[in-house]
Formats: sequence, C-alpha cells, structure tokens
Amino acid sequence: MDTATHNRRPIVAGNWKMHGSRAENQALIEALIASGSVDDSATCVVFPPFVYLADVARQLAGTSIELGAQDVCAEAQGAFTGEISAAMLADVGCAWTLVGHSERRTLFGEDNTLVARKFAAALARGLTPVLCVGEQLAEREQGQTSAVIERQLDAVLSVSGAAGLAKAVVAYEPVWAIGTGRNASPEQAQEVHALIRARVASHDAKIASALRILYGGSVKAANAAGLFGMPDVDGGLIGGASLKAEDFLAIWSAAAEV
Ligand code: PEP
Repeated sequence: MDTATHNRRPIVAGNWKMHGSRAENQALIEALIASGSVDDSATCVVFPPFVYLADVARQLAGTSIELGAQDVCAEAQGAFTGEISAAMLADVGCAWTLVGHSERRTLFGEDNTLVARKFAAALARGLTPVLCVGEQLAEREQGQTSAVIERQLDAVLSVSGAAGLAKAVVAYEPVWAIGTGRNASPEQAQEVHALIRARVASHDAKIASALRILYGGSVKAANAAGLFGMPDVDGGLIGGASLKAEDFLAIWSAAAEV
C-alpha cells in the first residue's frame, strides 16, 4: 500500500465519556477556543455526553471544532426507551458519532452485528461514524489480534460495504491501552493500522488509501507525536487527556504538525 503519497487530513477526537457538567464543559470549550493557537490542518471533534450536546453545539458555533456523540441507536425511531437516534443527533448539531467503543462492547454487550447496524444508521442520516475496533489483552497474547480486528471490520463491510467506509473513520483502540496509561508503541499501532488499511484495500484500494485511521489508548501530549508520525496513523481518539484543555491542545498540535 502506498502510504507515502497519501493526503489524509488528521483528526484529533476527544471522547469525554461520562464526565463533565455544564460548568466544566463550558470552561473546557472556552479554553480550547481561547487558545486560538491550533492550526486548522487537523480536524478537531469533541464527543460530550448526550445531554450536553445541544449546549456544546451552541458554544462551538462559529468555531472550527466539530461535534459528535458517543453512541447512536441502530433504529431510526420508535418505541426504544432511553435510546437516541441518528436523526436526533444531527438535529442538535452533531456531524459525527462513535460506534462500537470498547466500553459499549464490553460493558453493554454490543456485538459486531449491532455495531454494524449502528454504523449503517449513522450513515443513513449523514453522520460520520467513527468505528472503534480493538483487541483485548488476552486476545493479543494469544496471537488473535488480526483475527479479532478483521471480524470487527468485516461485520461493517458486509452491511455497508467499502462505500460505507468511504464516509467513515476507523479508530484502532487496543482495549488493554484504554484508560490504563499503557499506550501501544508506535510500531504496534502502525502494524494494526496497516492491517486495517489492507483489509479495506482488499475490497477497494482507493477507499483504503483515503481512509483515516485513528489510534486510541492512553494518548498523551508526551506520546502523541510518535504515534501520529507513523505512516498509517491519521490522528487520535483521546479519552482522559481530552478533558484537560492544555493536554488536548498539545495533542491537537501534534496531529496538526504531522
Ligand atoms: C477512549 O476512551 O477512547 C480512550 C482512548 O481513552 P484513554 O485515552 O483515556 O485511554
């Protein structure tokens, strides 16, 4: 795969998870906006909890920071108490949504089939899904990393095709690196990112070469440049460090400088 000539705009995505309050969110967004120092050559997206999306959308109006949700319902509408549809997310100003985050998969029982349906539901309403894939530590230790990632990707490819991935982003998030302080090395990340790109290329080489693949898992200001400098790493999905403006800005800068 020719990665040397790619022209992929990097992305830095902040997954706030179940953190924040109206006051804390406002302070965080104000600090991100006030810095004015980050160059626009990297796209920045924040993913607040559902209940704060409309508020944050208002705060982000007129800035280059984009808005996404942490999850989406696979169904379009109806009697699904507690769920949030893709149309509702678009209605309050989201352009993006995460699908298949490992916490949804492991803590809330989402399987590959459901994740693929969520991915398709997001696309149907014009949202850009960020498909999260990644192996557990035991799977890595048993040499199953590529098989796990391929199953996760294939579930989406079989429902939405490579054409679906042309309108999406993939985030490689090794589960053992999420929130643990133990990031994958740049070489470990590159190996899996190349595998993801090759899997998509087996369906459509052009789509694979344009696909943005983010790394997620204990990205910090100190390790971001090394990870983002790898040829198939197109930015990051950031959890803990996205809650501190100074750290997130430094990571955003690292993505912009690649
Ligand atoms: C995440 O939640 O997607 C994540 C990568 O978290 P952290 O950066 O805290 O490891």
